[in-house]
Amino acid sequence: MLYFDIRTIESGAQTVNGHLGEDDAVWEEGDMLPSSTVHVEGRLSYAGPGRFYFTGQFSGEAVASCRRCLTDVTTSVSDTVSGLFAEAGLDEAEEDDVFPLTAGARAVDLRPVVREAWLLAAPAFVTCRDDCQGLCPICGIDRNVETCACASASTDSRWDALRAMRDSSS
Ligand SMILES: [Zn+2]
Ligand SMILES: [Zn+2]
Repeated sequence: MLYFDIRTIESGAQTVNGHLGEDDAVWEEGDMLPSSTVHVEGRLSYAGPGRFYFTGQFSGEAVASCRRCLTDVTTSVSDTVSGLFAEAGLDEAEEDDVFPLTAGARAVDLRPVVREAWLLAAPAFVTCRDDCQGLCPICGIDRNVETCACASASTDSRWDALRAMRDSSS
């Protein structure tokens, strides 16, 4: 659960241990979505009248394209997350990094904070493995599974240049 009654928080800091679904309504079009439920843990405290502070961490998984071969790669995404909530009318509520609460709000919804932290942490591009050979820029085959003449020709000439350098320096 990522939704807390304000009177409950005022009576004592709340332990957060909840989940944000990959299909939750908080996600917006264009977001880099998680591929499964994101787990969220932390602490939500009262920080003065109309103010609440959340700090914790989240972990989940996303699917992104390998930047070299374009294969879908499942990657784990985790980071710390924190956010200050302030009721409308307070000076803090005007600040960019503060999450405003409508006047008279009865609950604090942590989902927007988790969404923002997720978007900052989720990679747009990943590599499927360190030695991914990628796609051939000439014929487009996946060099992890096939070899082509154009790939080996360019590789050979690069080695020739290195060999020439080594030979001339010795
Ligand atoms: Zn790859
Ligand atoms: Zn090729």
